[in-house]
This record gives sequence, C-alpha cells and structure tokens, in this order.
Amino acid sequence: MHELSIAASLVESVEQAARRAGAQRVTQVFLRLGALSGVAKDALLFGYDVATAGTLLEGSRLTIEDVAVVVHCDDCRRDVTLPGIQDFRCPVCGRPCAQIVAGRELEITGIEIEMADDVSLRAESA
Ligand SMILES: [Zn+2]
Repeated sequence: MHELSIAASLVESVEQAARRAGAQRVTQVFLRLGALSGVAKDALLFGYDVATAGTLLEGSRLTIEDVAVVVHCDDCRRDVTLPGIQDFRCPVCGRPCAQIVAGRELEITGIEIEMADDVSLRAESA
C-alpha cells in the first residue's frame, strides 16, 4: 500500500525530530494534505496506526488538514480555489488553468510532544 510507506517515512521523520527535542512521547501530529497529493486520507490514517506501533508516536493522533486545489487564473489575474480535482478550469471565467498554487501539500505542520520531565512529575504525584 502506497500510503503505508508514506506513513512510515512520516513517522520516521517525526520520531527523529521528537528525539532531538528530548521528547518521551509524541501525542499528536498535524499534517497538511493537498487534494492533489495523491494520498488517500483513510488509507493514510490506517497506515499511520500501523507505522506508529512500537515508536514514540504509538497511540498518538494524526490530525489532517485538507488543502483544496488553488490555481492561478491569468484572465482573472488572481488565485482561485477549485471545487474539486476533476476540472482544472477557472470556476469564475472557465479558462483552463495549469498553474497550480496549492493542493500538492504533504507536510507536517506541527507535533505535540510529552517531555521526559512531565512524565517523571506525574510519576511522583501518583
Ligand atoms: Zn478566471
């Protein structure tokens, strides 16, 4: 499955960043996913659960922000958001637009981590 390998590399880079930050655990990962990224969201979420097993990310949540396709229309002289990915014509004037401004994103925008200190504090109070 295509999405499983994407999830695996995503988990790997997040885990590296988390370790560098001295994190004990990653609780949430925020991802921007463009409509043209070629990634199926459900499959990615499933792949994420599989890929996080046994890592710092185990049990964490993947929060996906959908990014719509935005193209630049030369006639309208502005960026316009397309309603879908089937038709690359400007929804305002109907001109075919090939200049993609947004929609290909597959990027991590943030992670939520727990530091080792938090955990030891909790262990003491328990
Ligand atoms: Zn237009």
